[in-house]
Amino acid sequence: MEHIRYNKVRNIDTVVFGKYEIATWYYSPFPDEYKDIKKIYVCQHCMKYMKVKETYGRHISICEWKYPPGEKIYEVGRNKIYEVDGKLHKLYCQNFCLLAKFFLDNKMIYYDVESFLFYILTEVDDRNEEHVIGYFSKEKISYDNYNLACILVFPPYQRRGYGLLLIDFSYELSKREHKIGSPERPISDLGIRGYHSYWKRTILKILQNYTTNLYSIQEGTSTINGDGMPHNDNGRFMITINEISLMTSIRREDIIFTLQEMGFLKYRKPNANSVNYTALTYDVNNHVVNGNEQHEDHQQPHNNSPQQTQYQSHRDEEFAQQKHQQHIICITRRMVDDYIRSHGVRLDNRTVDICGLKWTKTSIPSKN
Ligand SMILES: [Zn+2]
Repeated sequence: MEHIRYNKVRNIDTVVFGKYEIATWYYSPFPDEYKDIKKIYVCQHCMKYMKVKETYGRHISICEWKYPPGEKIYEVGRNKIYEVDGKLHKLYCQNFCLLAKFFLDNKMIYYDVESFLFYILTEVDDRNEEHVIGYFSKEKISYDNYNLACILVFPPYQRRGYGLLLIDFSYELSKREHKIGSPERPISDLGIRGYHSYWKRTILKILQNYTTNLYSIQEGTSTINGDGMPHNDNGRFMITINEISLMTSIRREDIIFTLQEMGFLKYRKPNANSVNYTALTYDVNNHVVNGNEQHEDHQQPHNNSPQQTQYQSHRDEEFAQQKHQQHIICITRRMVDDYIRSHGVRLDNRTVDICGLKWTKTSIPSKN
């Protein structure tokens, strides 16, 4: 993979792209002949870039492209997503990367695009014209199960929830591949903020709506309440990190990080305490692996206090010790609701409407 240093001085000041003239944020390695150019023009349909306004004007009047190449695999309302193969549409993807680099601070590929797929998000305006508003790339074959390499929403379209939509889309693809995924590191500052937000909202939604008949909880006091949620007198319920991972395709480590951030995990000193759950725990295939068993209380949360940092060393140590065992989160509905309310978390963010997703694993082109 060809990486180029990404901390060079910003060269081109502005880029004309579609109906916007956008101030650039970072250096992008356009060819040498562009090194003294302050403004660049990029056709939002075919991604051809130009340095002269008149050339650009002529181009957009004759350009026959109306939308990205590749296969349209998602369409809901005004939004569409195209899957573009870097091998089949090499120049388009190279030019796209050069443009995206203006707004990405992490190192990324520009020319070696053939082993990547690009998912291009567009929005249709009132005149039925389609505008490119963001993308993410993904390695065709990732031995580390990365499901996203780079992600960007162009500045005029930021803060409208499209970043979360793209992240959600990357996980929907992982679900269809029956894989657990994670973004490739390092990821841009904007990207990682988007991920933290996405993981938190996704996990809170799971916890808020979690219903199951698999567990009966603690000391025979469990009852089923009106919404089918098994609970005891404290409204406590249990769910494993594996279950959350299987439901969301989010990697275990990312789930654990998010639960820690929210104060939903507490680690006690090894062997300092244990609790007797009359619960069943399940492995990833939902086979009962034990029941009526002593579970060390290494992950029982206590409240939603944010003061978790003092537990960091214990967490790391104990997580290393426990990583091959079941990890049970035992919390109450009230803790979840209180967290959502006190942190003003909005759960009605843009998400992928899977009815609009037309994608099967067989549509992934091979690497060669
Ligand atoms: Zn064009």
